Amino acid sequence: APLILWFRRDLRLADNPMLAEAVASGRPLLPVFILDPETEALGAAPKWRLGLGLEVFARALEAVGSRLVLRRGPALQVLADLAAEVGAVGVRWGRLYERGWRARDEGVKAGLKARGLEAVSHPGHTIHEPWEVETGQGGFYRVYTPFWRAVRDRPVGGPLPTPKEVRPVSVWPASDRLEDWRLGQAMVRGAGVVARHVGVGEAVARARLAGFLDGPVDRYAALRDVPAEAVTSGLSENLTYGEISARTVWHAGMRALDEGRAGAAKFLQELVWREFAWHLLHHTPEIALRNWRGEWDAFPWRGDSPEAELWRRGMTGEPFVDAAMREMFVTGTMHNRARMIAASYLTKHLLTDWRVGQAWFEDCLIDWDPAANALGWQWVAGSGPDAAPYFRIFNPATQAGKFDADSVYRRRFVAELSRDPGAEALAFFEAAPRSWGLSPRQRYPAAVVSLVAGRERALAAYGQRNK
Ligand code: FAD
Repeated sequence: APLILWFRRDLRLADNPMLAEAVASGRPLLPVFILDPETEALGAAPKWRLGLGLEVFARALEAVGSRLVLRRGPALQVLADLAAEVGAVGVRWGRLYERGWRARDEGVKAGLKARGLEAVSHPGHTIHEPWEVETGQGGFYRVYTPFWRAVRDRPVGGPLPTPKEVRPVSVWPASDRLEDWRLGQAMVRGAGVVARHVGVGEAVARARLAGFLDGPVDRYAALRDVPAEAVTSGLSENLTYGEISARTVWHAGMRALDEGRAGAAKFLQELVWREFAWHLLHHTPEIALRNWRGEWDAFPWRGDSPEAELWRRGMTGEPFVDAAMREMFVTGTMHNRARMIAASYLTKHLLTDWRVGQAWFEDCLIDWDPAANALGWQWVAGSGPDAAPYFRIFNPATQAGKFDADSVYRRRFVAELSRDPGAEALAFFEAAPRSWGLSPRQRYPAAVVSLVAGRERALAAYGQRNK
């Protein structure tokens, strides 16, 4: 009797514990992806990117003699129906650790067991399960550095081999057509523009890792904060959809470290920020929802506002910030330094609640990750674990002088700043919704707030909170 493999954010054949164990069982396997209400709730860009990932992954399964069956509906219902259709003995999946998904998965597990079916979950989304890394007292880490020290020397299993063949079921149940799901429908921001920048699927992810280790890693430590330089791995979008395992990236990074490559240690540390984010989201799911430090509830955050809308549109009149926001529009990602500057500007100079920015990133990023996005925003806002103190306010102009000294990044994405704007700067106007009424011939807007006034207002608000 077959086993059902419920794929979610693990769209890969290599180093996939669920798949490897299922293949080893010798049973026929029925891979399925379910468009359930939790998946329907994804932001526009992540949902669109998911569709691209599913298309490539379905082909990868076909190449090993299998298929990806697509079904829509509440997960438990879909799985129970499929199990009845093919006479499956049970369902397997890779664990996810965000609160809503966990609640869903627990419900599915209980429901399947009540129907007499096996329900088994597997690790695979992170290097270590979020609860495996513990402090000496058996608690969880709130500060990155000791977390890193705890992770650094922990043995890491895998990578598991890629199955050459995935045994099919004898009769394939009906599948939805991916086109009919219209996963890109909400992607009003020109999907055609962002499509020029995505890198979808396992083969691309592996090539990215190899390409990164082939050269850029050597300059990573020195230049990873310079957004105009392409020295980071670009793997976040693939890690998000599980097109490559974090363990695979870890092992490759460790080999580079052993070979004495300059940026390898720093790269591994960054990868462990992802682990730390999942560790925190697992232990404190509210990190994605409210101020991690409760005392921040008294802070006079402003909600959404016309200024925040200008921020979203890349029209604040602050070049580094606007370049960052437009980069996200055009490419679906944003350089890490730029994320910090854009987030700092919104939460400090515009005194806006970090959740306004978090939500916009969730809608725009093809590498959207609930853990890293929440931690990133709370870290910048000052309300999160191991956060930068609020009063340390990035000055975007000074930051630009340091990390974009030749204006290459700002000019690459802000057409109004150059006489002869390049393709990426112009692509922003192609990608922006028509209703915004933007044109590359417009004058660059005046600053929505002066850097001095914005900083003083933020500090005054902070001083009051502390009274
Ligand atoms: P590399 O520098 O090559 O790093 C390798 C991998 O390490 C990345 O792919 C990523 O998985 C992980 N990583 C690196 N930096 C961080 C970090 N600071 N936190 C967590 N993981 C990290 N990352 C996301 O993947 N999704 C998000 O939604 C997201 N939102 C963010 C929001 C804010 C406000 C901030 C400040 C950061 C956010 N990050 C997010 C983290 C970081 O900016 C991206 O992971 C990074 O820019 C991805 O580029 P890369 O793959 O080339 O990274």
